[in-house]
Amino acid sequence: MRIILFGPPGSGKGTQAARLCKAWGLPQISTGDMLREAVRRGTPTGREAKEYMDRGALVPDEVMTRVVEERLSQADCAGGFLLDGFPRTLAQARALEESLSKRGQAVDAVVSLLVEEEEVVRRMAGRGRDDDSEEVIRNRLKVFRKETEPLTRFYQARGKLLEVLGVGTVEEITERIQAALAGFVRGNASGARARTSGA
Ligand code: AMP
Repeated sequence: MRIILFGPPGSGKGTQAARLCKAWGLPQISTGDMLREAVRRGTPTGREAKEYMDRGALVPDEVMTRVVEERLSQADCAGGFLLDGFPRTLAQARALEESLSKRGQAVDAVVSLLVEEEEVVRRMAGRGRDDDSEEVIRNRLKVFRKETEPLTRFYQARGKLLEVLGVGTVEEITERIQAALAGFVRGNASGARARTSGA
């Protein structure tokens, strides 16, 4: 399965991504974690990314698509993966689509976690991460609305979007995602059978 977990910063994406990957045995590709690790190690990518991350801005698309392409070409991603925090712009979504299609692959589903903005601010303020000061949080939300939210239309148009309410306990949300995905996969399989038998 190739899944994208989508949602505003502070929506609980990272927490849910880790739980789903464990349940399904998929590698979790978290671009935020990868970048934080690159910053910590002082790699060229980390040095380039840091100034953007510190102000809650997006790291340039060329950097991100290269980082993700490299990661997805590793052997553990051959049978599927879960992307957490990528794509975040239309350019990234298009680059991902193109790079997967070269390998005869595509994203199966995009799970979008729906959480109200007030709740997101409250959650982020409690995390204590370097890029979680109030000003930076506001900027990250602004960037999300402007650059990232339009991606829901991109994936909706491809019949890939699954919206899941991201409020409740961590366990409830995981179950909701699993139930929604199971229904989605079943629906697609029967759709594919119908198309095949009708042809
Ligand atoms: P996250 O942990 O996903 O909230 O990401 C933390 C920060 O890393 C973001 O605020 C961005 O500065 C950067 N980042 C992570 N993923 C991406 C991406 N796909 N495109 C651009 N910047 C990203």
